[in-house]
Amino acid sequence: MRPLIASIRLENLRHNYLLAKQMAGGPTLAVIKANAYGHGALRCAQALADVADGFAVACLEEAVQLREGGVSLPIVLLEGVFEAAELAAVEAHDLWCVVQSPQQLDMVLQANPAKPYTVWLKMDSGMHRAGFFPQDYAAAHCKLMASGKVSKIVKMSHFARADEPQLSATHAQLEAFDSVCRYLPGEESIANSAGILCHERAHRQWNRAGIMLYGASPLPAGFEQGAALKPVMRLTSRVFGVRELAAGEPVGYGASFVAERPTRVGLIACGYADGYPRLASTGSPVAIDGVRSRVIGRVSMDMMTVDLTDLPQAGIGSEVELWGDTVHINEVAAQAGTISYEVLCNVKRAHFQYH
Ligand SMILES: *Cc1c(COP(=O)(O)O)cnc(C)c1O
Repeated sequence: MRPLIASIRLENLRHNYLLAKQMAGGPTLAVIKANAYGHGALRCAQALADVADGFAVACLEEAVQLREGGVSLPIVLLEGVFEAAELAAVEAHDLWCVVQSPQQLDMVLQANPAKPYTVWLKMDSGMHRAGFFPQDYAAAHCKLMASGKVSKIVKMSHFARADEPQLSATHAQLEAFDSVCRYLPGEESIANSAGILCHERAHRQWNRAGIMLYGASPLPAGFEQGAALKPVMRLTSRVFGVRELAAGEPVGYGASFVAERPTRVGLIACGYADGYPRLASTGSPVAIDGVRSRVIGRVSMDMMTVDLTDLPQAGIGSEVELWGDTVHINEVAAQAGTISYEVLCNVKRAHFQYH
């Protein structure tokens, strides 16, 4: 078997969820969209079933997969529905649905549900991606309330810059939200992970924890609020080839790395087709039998090369942690010029092992 393993530590997931809920001070959805950020949505939902208040996914397809797997807790569709016909499935599967546009509002107003919907009505409080502008929000809220088609409306919004805690942008969004919503009845939901970690004023009746569940802080290095989170995924492979190169010899495609000294190169079964970011090439950290070293040369589709020069004990069969406990996912993401979310979502072809 190809030795690339994504170990998913479900105990750490539970720990992180409970920490998120404790920090948020109230009910918290576990956001498991995009296959639980690459960790396996059904397995994660099952592991959280007895502690979570509910789940959030992007779309109907993701929710149905959970329902068919036996998940019975509330599930919110964060993008809402894409066509009116999906509302029948929303009803059949007892899902909660975001309404974030006039088109989605009309679909709900024109539907004839046997049992009224629970709607999460989204305000665009400043991110300018989805939702009703503050000045249009109360009218949308009133139309839904008056329609008889909904039994409950949760007022929601989403932050654009909560991961930059020093900025005033998040306060401006909160102001925009509260200035309208304080006059409207019902529960509210604003905080994502960064909101839970950094913005107490954003903690409301419902909170939405995503990346922090998986043990990665959304905050820049230096912010300690996420220090107690435990990484859920540990991605490991093994050395399956070793060669010694003289100084001056290149390694890999494009000869982007040239040995400056006699160099011992380890070959690893992991590449960008597995989701390891190609942009995180020479210099990206790895841990070999627990000792930190680095990628050298370009990451290729199925393989990559690491520096074993200072690790004389390491050789064929040595374990290489791509990220997990010694190498933090945020370090790898930074090397690739991206964020942990994208790197985690991209993991594939690895053997997933759940503990
Ligand atoms: C993905 C998402 C979240 C979770 O965000 P994190 O930064 O991963 O915590 C929360 N709310 C909405 C609307 C989302 O789309």
